[in-house]
Amino acid sequence: MAVRSYKYRLRPNRSQSAGLDGMLRDFCGLYNACLQQRIEAHRRRGIGLRYGHQAAELKACRAADRDGLARWSFSALQQVLRRLDQTFTAFFKRGRGFPRYRASARYHAATFRVGDGLSVKKDRRIGVVGVPGGIKAVWHRDLPPGAKLATAILTRQQGKWYVVFSVEATFGEACGSGTVGIDLGLGSLIATSDGEMVEAPRHARRAQKAQRRRQRALVRCRRGGRRRLKAKARLAAGSAKMARQRRDRLHKLSRSLVSRYRGIAFEDLDLTGLKKGMLARSVHDAAWSLLVQLVRYMAGSGGAEVVLVDPRGTSQTCPECGTLKAKTLSTRVHACACGCVLDRDVAAAMVVHHRAFGLGPGHGLRCVSGRVAA
Ligand SMILES: [Zn+2]
Repeated sequence: MAVRSYKYRLRPNRSQSAGLDGMLRDFCGLYNACLQQRIEAHRRRGIGLRYGHQAAELKACRAADRDGLARWSFSALQQVLRRLDQTFTAFFKRGRGFPRYRASARYHAATFRVGDGLSVKKDRRIGVVGVPGGIKAVWHRDLPPGAKLATAILTRQQGKWYVVFSVEATFGEACGSGTVGIDLGLGSLIATSDGEMVEAPRHARRAQKAQRRRQRALVRCRRGGRRRLKAKARLAAGSAKMARQRRDRLHKLSRSLVSRYRGIAFEDLDLTGLKKGMLARSVHDAAWSLLVQLVRYMAGSGGAEVVLVDPRGTSQTCPECGTLKAKTLSTRVHACACGCVLDRDVAAAMVVHHRAFGLGPGHGLRCVSGRVAA
């Protein structure tokens, strides 16, 4: 059994959305109150409060707050205390920062046990304790058959609501058969050692242009003005949309890679940082590491293998004869004295493939001993 998350968009009506907002506001209030209680207990009496102490008081707090906490699911409130407890654990054990008070506008998620406070109704709407009616969900894909829903997280992202289910099931997709090397290009999104190039779609470039326009509009606005707030919201909505589209694209790309190959090789991203230097933009970096992360995630259940190789010199090596051939970033074609002419990124992907899986039929470093000077 493996655990995966399935995320669905929710379309609450006006009163439901007000209810959900109110719920997060109350949860945030509880979080801050419990944080304060812990700080005071330590300061005044030198006591370190734990989850158990605070959970024991929760019932009484809830009973005393009829129009507030009492409206929401008890177990979801317990999860708020757990969340606080986790930030303390992170502080004590893993050296993270001291837990901070949370602004209500930045408190965006609530955790539920499915069937306890949050349920999927017969009409496939989502029922949440304290929120009127069933919330419409967009079931853009089915849950896996025989899935056991463990927990659900309700989140608010840029004013949109989502539910994320943790699903326990056996995921039986099989992986493909061949092996492949992937070059994470600057021009195209990826190039494979089989000569396939995946371009970043045109709409992404258009969206980026629009984003730059919104950025300029924002800096023209007077600080503290109403127009500035609006411009800021438009900019945030734009980048959120781009992120969603990028994620969707990478999801499909990694699914297609895993379904076609048994072994997939990437450059080790931790080592590439210096090589790409100033030219690499942060968006690119994020997309690459997300792609590797997604392929690993999908490979895990399908039985495919992901190999990370040393990225040094992948774009400077000839995949046919192994000669080092220096290129500047503007040279788009790999043309070697041995007669090997390839797209630069495809050549690099072949080198990555070779480093990970050794000689493959039809490609690989054929005569390493016969190196010629470039
Ligand atoms: Zn060559």
